[in-house]
Amino acid sequence: MLRDPSSKYSRFRAINLPDRTWPNNHIDKAPRWLATDLRDGNQSLPDPMSVKQKQEYFQKMIEIGLKEIEVSFPSASQTDFDFTRYAVSHAPDDLDIQVLVQSREHLIRRTIESLQGAKRAIVHTYLATSDLFRNVVFGLSRKDSIALAVKTAKFVRSLTKDDPTQQATHWTYEFSPECFSSTPTEFAVEICQAVKDAWEPSVENPIIFNLPATIEVSTPNVYADQIEYFSRHIGDRDHVVVSLHCHNDRGCSVAATELGLLAGGDRVEGCLFGNGERTGNVDIVTLALNMYTSGVAPNLDFSDLKSVIDVAERCNKIPVHARAPYGGSLVTCAFSGSHQDAIKKGFAAQEKRRGEGDKTWQIPYLTLDPRDIGRNYEAVIRVNSQSGKGGAAWIIQRNLGLDLPKQMQIDFSNVVQENADNLGRELKSDEIISLLQNHYNFDNCATKIITVKDYNFHKESDQVTHLDAVVSMDQKDIPIHGEGNGPISSFINALSEALGVNIDVESYTEHSVGLGSKTKAATYVKLSLNGVSRWGIGMHESITRASVNSIMSAVNSLVKAGALERDTLNSKDEFTEKIEKEVEQNKKREAAGKVKAKL
Ligand SMILES: [Zn+2]
Repeated sequence: MLRDPSSKYSRFRAINLPDRTWPNNHIDKAPRWLATDLRDGNQSLPDPMSVKQKQEYFQKMIEIGLKEIEVSFPSASQTDFDFTRYAVSHAPDDLDIQVLVQSREHLIRRTIESLQGAKRAIVHTYLATSDLFRNVVFGLSRKDSIALAVKTAKFVRSLTKDDPTQQATHWTYEFSPECFSSTPTEFAVEICQAVKDAWEPSVENPIIFNLPATIEVSTPNVYADQIEYFSRHIGDRDHVVVSLHCHNDRGCSVAATELGLLAGGDRVEGCLFGNGERTGNVDIVTLALNMYTSGVAPNLDFSDLKSVIDVAERCNKIPVHARAPYGGSLVTCAFSGSHQDAIKKGFAAQEKRRGEGDKTWQIPYLTLDPRDIGRNYEAVIRVNSQSGKGGAAWIIQRNLGLDLPKQMQIDFSNVVQENADNLGRELKSDEIISLLQNHYNFDNCATKIITVKDYNFHKESDQVTHLDAVVSMDQKDIPIHGEGNGPISSFINALSEALGVNIDVESYTEHSVGLGSKTKAATYVKLSLNGVSRWGIGMHESITRASVNSIMSAVNSLVKAGALERDTLNSKDEFTEKIEKEVEQNKKREAAGKVKAKL
């Protein structure tokens, strides 16, 4: 790279428009959309779509609600001609089929032929108008260009709206001054004015002037100035549809299109997920969902965005980037602890507001409700070694209904973090659930050293409860007895006495899970013994049983932690073994890599 690039490159000189009005405008309604995936998008694919793929894509676009689709360049190949025939015979009555053609008579004839029988058709012609392309590539003066553009418009007119045999089709004419963005804007107006006079549009059947940033050469505000200038200077403005067609060379196509809409654009041409020449056409999905999240109906339906992604990826053979706005697989996910915590709190606050009749969406970090585009909340929070307590707690809450106490969330997040770190990857929901079950001896999947076989509480008075139970330890059944001021203390006392130790209760909380007859009680207890403390979880239809379960869960953790002086059994469960194996393999692989590097 050059230390001083100004010797080689210079800033694009824009039209001077000091009285511009577009910065004060808002996008308050959807534009007309045209999808050019099957033309501009398809022509840029390393491996163009098969006829079958084009058909699938075409159907999907109709399903989304597109009313204008550019289907092909019919005079370029037999495949494109044939596909145009397919589109004509499969188009709903309100769909405009658009085709592109060069300003050459025999190609125009062939193009009109491909549209025979269409209910609605847009014939799209283009001509180089930028100085560079006019002079260097085509050798046309400004006068020559205008003459050719007028001749072409008149010729198309004679074969379509002026031909008495063609009256069954609703014909629209579209003209693109090519490289509008790098064409002197006053010349773009001059040539379009001449084309308009040749076509003679009306309010009912306006002409489309498509103003492409064929190559994006400036900041988006410059494009907006050009659009406003054009929109203000073209005559009979209500006979004209100003169409925006932005490419993404500088990565600003969405911004340029949005500013172009503020500046007077009526229509947008683009592709799903921004496929197209070089860096692509503007992404229609992003534009539409940007409007949607501003409260403006885009008139395109992305309720099932996944199916749109599937079709685009399958037919384009280009994956949608994981970070692509709205469509990317990672864009509604939060990994970082502080983000997860904020989202979790946001959902709780929103639920409360919902109860008060407020339906607005206000969640930190999420501009769109994932359910509106067919995604679920499970995917919102994902857990890796960067995640804090909120992430794992969220997964547990959504999947098991357990609302872990804050201190326990911290305890569990250390376990999760250690595992994610060791594995060097994200943990999936089911792995996090397994970790919880095994770490806290919760549920039936964890190996337990001590279990309760049978128990009976007897309440003597408000202050005194007796417990008789049988616990099973080392394959022996041991009867235990204890008393306390309630079930929990009597059970703890009985266990302490039987094991010859002194177990303390540091914390106890409970809540209900579910509604109606399916309600269960969840209890959380933190026990300490010989300076070691452990959490336990219990869940059961009966709250007493849930408490007993949580105590047993914590006691087993204390035993496994060695707080009880006895030979602990081999307490490794299947899941822990699986994780340890993977870590071991990773280490081996790493070591092998290092040896290689040394050699
Ligand atoms: Zn283009």
